[in-house]
Amino acid sequence: MSRLDLHLHTTHSDGSCTPTEVVDLAHQAGVTALAITDHDIMTGIDEATAAGEQRGIEIIPGVEISSLAGNSELHILGYFLDWQDSDLPERLKTLRDSRHRRNPRIIERLQALGIDITYDEVRALAGTDSIGRPHIARILMDKHVVASAKEAFDRFLAEGRPAYVPRELPSPAEAIRWIKAARGLAILAHPTWIKVAEQSLVDLVRQLKDDGLNGVEVYYSTHAARQTREYLSLAQQLGLLVTGGSDFHGLTKPDIEVGIGKGTLHIPTSLLPKMKEAAGRL
Ligand SMILES: [Zn+2]
Ligand SMILES: [Zn+2]
Repeated sequence: MSRLDLHLHTTHSDGSCTPTEVVDLAHQAGVTALAITDHDIMTGIDEATAAGEQRGIEIIPGVEISSLAGNSELHILGYFLDWQDSDLPERLKTLRDSRHRRNPRIIERLQALGIDITYDEVRALAGTDSIGRPHIARILMDKHVVASAKEAFDRFLAEGRPAYVPRELPSPAEAIRWIKAARGLAILAHPTWIKVAEQSLVDLVRQLKDDGLNGVEVYYSTHAARQTREYLSLAQQLGLLVTGGSDFHGLTKPDIEVGIGKGTLHIPTSLLPKMKEAAGRL
């Protein structure tokens, strides 16, 4: 059975497998076309494309951009991007730099609260360029300031707590605009994660469509059958494309596998020609 998987992370963002390893896993799972969609970065596409050529797997250049609508983080997937010949790489770099500005500010706030912690300690523990609040929580645990990561978030790091610093993220409309400027398709990722009531989701997606959204990620590892049906009908009602992906991260989300998610995910290959047609890439 041939499969699609249009949502995959690699070591270029927070996944634990290299692009080549992801392509090999996809090959084993019977995936015939896949998209690498690392968070706010596209540097893994080259290696995946080379590996895909060897394995006979079509690689669609993709990205997953974090955006902020009110208090809710929305992820916008981009596909069929002119990922080398556009402003997108530069825009994403600016976005990543803003994350690097955020972490030192969190540390400053913790220091102001009298906690003995330095940014160097956090960097040494993380061992990667992709530093996040979980790393800071671990330092606070090591120093016995808190007993658990949950306590670190509840007392200091979560929204509304004294060391919280909001991320500087683009609006969904802006993220969509960036993707369109790179001649890509803009797709709303995993609607299950969006913190709005069912009716407001329809209004939200309608608004995003006005902003240029092309489709909705209907098939997803953690969508219950009822949700898949609901999002499918939403996409049909609004005349939007339907896509799907596992959101594979490797060891970071060990229960999710390439191509099959938690074991029951099946993304129809018939979605791909419709996407290509919409992107003008047939
Ligand atoms: Zn996401
Ligand atoms: Zn993702």
